[in-house]
Amino acid sequence: MVATLDADGRVLAADVVSELHVPPQDNSSMDGYAVRCADVQESGVVLQVTQRIAAGSSGHRMQPLSAARIFTGAPIPSGADAVVMQEDCDVVNECEGGVRVNAVPAVGQWIRRAGEDVARGSVVLQCGQRLHPAALGLAASVGMAELAVKRRPRVALFSTGDELVMPGQKAPQDMPPGAIYNSNRFFLAALLRRLGCDVTDMGIVPDQRDATVEALRSAAQSHDVILTSGGVSVGEEDHIKPAVQSLGSLDLWQIAIKPGKPFAHGRIGNAHFLGLPGNPVSSYITFLVLVRPFLLQMQGVTEVAMKSIAVRADFTWARADKRREFLRVRRNAQGGLDLFPNQSSGVLTSTVWGDGMVDNPAGCTIAPGDRVQFVAFSELLA
Ligand code: AMP
Ligand code: MG
Repeated sequence: MVATLDADGRVLAADVVSELHVPPQDNSSMDGYAVRCADVQESGVVLQVTQRIAAGSSGHRMQPLSAARIFTGAPIPSGADAVVMQEDCDVVNECEGGVRVNAVPAVGQWIRRAGEDVARGSVVLQCGQRLHPAALGLAASVGMAELAVKRRPRVALFSTGDELVMPGQKAPQDMPPGAIYNSNRFFLAALLRRLGCDVTDMGIVPDQRDATVEALRSAAQSHDVILTSGGVSVGEEDHIKPAVQSLGSLDLWQIAIKPGKPFAHGRIGNAHFLGLPGNPVSSYITFLVLVRPFLLQMQGVTEVAMKSIAVRADFTWARADKRREFLRVRRNAQGGLDLFPNQSSGVLTSTVWGDGMVDNPAGCTIAPGDRVQFVAFSELLA
């Protein structure tokens, strides 16, 4: 159970069922006068104002030829069947409390009906739904101060690569030859947190078999998922795969997407192992395409598929690939897509310049004017 106020991004573990109507009773959606339509068949009728009902109070039964001064959100008194907005009324005989109604009301006008938002007994939010700000508001509107949510997945994150240096450890001018800053750790940690994970950041593991085995072994003991970047390719310095095989099983390695081919999945004890390629764009894209739905499904989220829409390409992609490709693109003001000029898997700039990607099937070229499937990053980062 978590406080509804703190439940943004969490996944519901039970349906939220409303025990009341929302709104609880018929109420006014205007400042004005509640009337009986039968009394106002023509404009200019003068009614006696016999009660005043503000939001938070309640009135009494309306007698014929009377009106109730009423404010937005105040309950409609019984007998009244319409509200006339104050702009359509004139106060007359101030001392005797009369109002002239200058517009003929229709039955039900400016009345918000009891239960028109939520009917008592209805499911307002479903088990497996990921909560977002509006959902918290809806839960609160039916009186929920706390919500039952799924446990956060515990994820151990580490990067591999002897070339990696943490920003802050060395100034740019002091970087030794061959060294690069660890960028993957930053976006992976942030992506995991956005998906509601409890992240243990295990830092950088050196490119050594023993150190890799040890890091995986200890991570597997207390985490649901181990997420690594780098070291899953075919080079001699790629120690992740044999290390996973020695501790558990490697169930999947290499997938026909570009970027991201070296992606790996396996099990170590009860923990899932997810190995991302080291190239930053490959790491980023495989996270969005493969890890994100995995982590959501682990939390019981029912809708995990990436949503794409058909958008016009305003660029040429002449080289068809054997693999399904994810091209970094940006929507332009003409409603089309521009392509980032450098699609290399090392060019992280493309993921910041772009606001999404084209999901291009294997073997397809793209010509200007073609409809392509566009996936917005904003959908995947929420
Ligand atoms: P690997 O998959 O380990 O062979 O790495 C592929 C490429 O990605 C190499 O150029 C690495 O230097 C680079 N790389 C690996 N890990 C990271 C990281 N955490 N941050 C930035 N670049 C990385
Ligand atoms: Mg490496």
